[in-house]
Amino acid sequence: MANGCHRPCPGCRIRSLCWPLVLIAAGVLFSLDFIWRLWPIGKTWPILLILWGLCGMASRLAPDTGHGTPPSPSSAGV
Ligand SMILES: [Zn+2]
Repeated sequence: MANGCHRPCPGCRIRSLCWPLVLIAAGVLFSLDFIWRLWPIGKTWPILLILWGLCGMASRLAPDTGHGTPPSPSSAGV
C-alpha cells in the first residue's frame, strides 16, 4: 500500500489515506447536492481542495520515523 516504505510510517500512512478521504468527501458533497438538495456542489467544491491541502500538509508534518527501513534493522552482515 505504502509506496517505497517497507513499514508504513505515519507520514506515508496519512498520505495513502488522502485520496480515499477526498473521494469520500466528494461523494458526501455530491450527495448533499443531488440527494438531499442542501448545498449545490458549485459552492462546496473548494472544500475538497482545502481537505486535500490539509491532508498533504499533515502527511509532511507527521513523523517519518522508520520510513523506508527494512523490517529487520538488526542485520550485521553486509
Ligand atoms: Zn514512510
